[in-house]
Amino acid sequence: MSRRFIAGARCQDCGAEDTLYFDAHSTSDVVLCVACGFSEARPVAAAVPTPSEAVEIVPLKFPMT
Ligand SMILES: [Zn+2]
Repeated sequence: MSRRFIAGARCQDCGAEDTLYFDAHSTSDVVLCVACGFSEARPVAAAVPTPSEAVEIVPLKFPMT
């Protein structure tokens, strides 16, 4: 069993810091608090940039010789 703690995260239920971790056994990412037992479903996609932003690519201009 592995616990991936979230650095700097604060539990919205008890207010403790660095007590939140991802439940590795859950199919979806569930955040749990070791201090009060609070649990919250937190989708991973929320931290990933949206595809619309990734499409916008700035073309590189190489110096012509
Ligand atoms: Zn808590």
